[in-house]
Amino acid sequence: MSVPAPALNAGPLDRAATGARLSPGEIEALYTLPLPDVASVATALRAERRDPDVVTFLIDRNINYTNVCNVGCNFCAFYRTKRQKDSYTLDYEQISAKIRELEAVNGTRILLQGGVNPELGLEYYTGLLRHVKANHPTIRIDAFSPEEVLFMEKTFGLTLDALLDTLIEAGLDGLPGAGGEILEDDVRAKAAPARIRSDDWFRIIDAAQRKGLYTIATMVIGFGETYAQRAAHLVKIRDQQDRANREYGGNGFSGFAMWTLQTEHTRLHGKAPGATAHEYLQQLAIARIALDNIANIQASWPAQGFKVAQAALYYGANDLGSTMLEENVVSAAGGHGRHHATVRELIRIAVDAGFRPAIRNSRFEIIDWPDASAALRQSDSNPERERAVGASG
Ligand code: SF4
Repeated sequence: MSVPAPALNAGPLDRAATGARLSPGEIEALYTLPLPDVASVATALRAERRDPDVVTFLIDRNINYTNVCNVGCNFCAFYRTKRQKDSYTLDYEQISAKIRELEAVNGTRILLQGGVNPELGLEYYTGLLRHVKANHPTIRIDAFSPEEVLFMEKTFGLTLDALLDTLIEAGLDGLPGAGGEILEDDVRAKAAPARIRSDDWFRIIDAAQRKGLYTIATMVIGFGETYAQRAAHLVKIRDQQDRANREYGGNGFSGFAMWTLQTEHTRLHGKAPGATAHEYLQQLAIARIALDNIANIQASWPAQGFKVAQAALYYGANDLGSTMLEENVVSAAGGHGRHHATVRELIRIAVDAGFRPAIRNSRFEIIDWPDASAALRQSDSNPERERAVGASG
């Protein structure tokens, strides 16, 4: 279908609606436009890029293998020093026990991430990957943020390529793009002086994409960043996706996940502005418009709550993220009171908003069409029924 040419001097929304790529200045201008207009274009673009009738989600579990961390980000309430009484590092059997609970509800992926724990050797990581692959062969392992990979690269005397090859050989399937926040170093330096810088974040993600690993792009707003910095973040993500499409056979970001800063129990509490629901929905819609080369945009229920996440389905999102049998990082800093969703709850959010729910894998490929009617007749307090819903064909 041919796309009508934008009128001369058309505004950024008119140009986006016709499929034109927006400049950084045009993306910045979107923040000054009425949100309903921005949402309308975002929804139209979402319908072009993914099945307009379907909303997807994943059954997975976050496993935070250690909370010991020496990076000390000002926005983090999850990390501990090794001397603190409630610091921990999980052993392989503790991790297996968590995965067995995921297998019981037909989950397909673990998101394995931790603090930067200087006590751990390379053999802990490779042994863990091998253990999971040997004992849980149906579970995909998306593990280690660029921050953790940077630590391993600096500590274990391997080049980045050799390190990633070693982790892949041990069983790594994907490298989630956690730690993106705002990929502008002015913002990062204030929020977390020791945090991985944007060049290293992209260097590690680029290498992962080149090696065929799964990745997603992330963004967190609410540090007090400017609209120009938000727009610059989106353009950097878009540029990286262009590179992956051009040079790595399309193995770029599988999706984009964005949420708002949570500051409870952190050193940023009372200092960073955070972001309201309006700002979240605005940012999501602008991301949908700006990221013309990323098909999947996630709504974030752990940070925004189920109701705002449902509304996000009309602001450019086509995906509800995942059930997350366990989440410790956003929840430590406040979150939205819920850190686990049942399959039924995500089905209900999708159905009530007018969509057909589908269960996907971490690459956003649909692997199951749950029986929504049966699920909605059930009670959330019955785990056996939950299990049955997850298994339905
Ligand atoms: S966000 Fe990650 S790197 Fe930063 S302190 Fe928390 S656990 Fe450590």
